[in-house]
Amino acid sequence: MVLLTPGPTPIHPRVQAALSKEMRGHLDPEVLASNRRIRGYLSHLFDPGEGALLAALPGSGSLGMEAGLTNLADEGDPVLLLVSGTFGERMVEIAHAYRLDYRVLRSEPGHPIDPQAVAEELKHRPYKLVALVHGETSTGVLNPVEAIAPIVQEHGALLMLDAVTTAGMMPLSMQQLGVDYAFTGSQKCLSAPPGLAPFALSERGRECLGQVRGWYSDLSRVAVYWEQEGYFCTSPVLLHYALEEALRLALEEGLENRKKRAQQMYATVLSLLEELGFSAYAAPEARLPTVLVVRPPKGLTEAEIRKGLYARGVSVAGGIGPTAGKVLRLGLMGESARPEHYRVFFWALGEVLGLSGLERAFEERLGLVLG
Ligand SMILES: *Cc1c(COP(=O)(O)O)cnc(C)c1O
Repeated sequence: MVLLTPGPTPIHPRVQAALSKEMRGHLDPEVLASNRRIRGYLSHLFDPGEGALLAALPGSGSLGMEAGLTNLADEGDPVLLLVSGTFGERMVEIAHAYRLDYRVLRSEPGHPIDPQAVAEELKHRPYKLVALVHGETSTGVLNPVEAIAPIVQEHGALLMLDAVTTAGMMPLSMQQLGVDYAFTGSQKCLSAPPGLAPFALSERGRECLGQVRGWYSDLSRVAVYWEQEGYFCTSPVLLHYALEEALRLALEEGLENRKKRAQQMYATVLSLLEELGFSAYAAPEARLPTVLVVRPPKGLTEAEIRKGLYARGVSVAGGIGPTAGKVLRLGLMGESARPEHYRVFFWALGEVLGLSGLERAFEERLGLVLG
């Protein structure tokens, strides 16, 4: 199966090999050494500055989200949630479950959060924490964190960033932006198996730790394992090995190069799809290069196309939340943003649409983009 969903993503052979290493205990010196290397790699991925906590939670990306909200805000703390789709709404669900004193600022589906609206809201109320999804996977929108972060900083609030569709596929500097907590999921831009949520918590963010209503997601306990190398819980060590290898691959290629690879693939795939009658869902000025969300051509439903592709060995996603039933979502994260995979995608799409030669058209176009 060619896995072109916006997570999980295909796994590189080196990552697959890491998964079949010999089983060891979670406090085995070899595992602890791997953990130290993971922390070193994460410092390049997130660049959180001196004194930050770097680790990977044993869970999917959503655990990273829950841990951020519950460690940085206590019951009754005012929190501003910036929502531009399904994953932003997930933050609202978590804030509700933990009885945070939250307010929500929403953008129109397909459009990014307006920094001016954030500035207006922060003028009226003091917030302890502002939370933003960088790349919203349900709509394919990239939010302008570089414009929002300085506004949040000016008001003295902490900033949490869901970097699930961006960290590992583009450079990100928490200390330059002024982000206090950022997280991702191992199965997205890093193309490791699902099951770990790598994160970074700034030194300033760490001051909040220790009063969490929760046990498993208490980041001070997580720090006992990752920094003091003591027992917290039984970690999924084979997933740690795979994550280490995936991080090494990402940093060997370079984050700037990975971003360029995603952008080139995005532009090429979209231009050919547009010619076939598809249209991008996200506003042109706010397109996330790692998730291409497209409406199908007139006369065809997304489900027909998606099922036809699946029958030919290509797995893509339909819409969720505001885009449910309206779009196809194509992943360009990590190993999915490869010409050989999209060559197969266009071959299969040609079969579904009754057109031949689409895979050659794709290759020619990509050749022009790559020069
Ligand atoms: C995938 C995703 C998550 C986390 O999802 P999990 O399925 O729990 O890994 C969070 N935020 C965004 C933007 C995502 O794309």
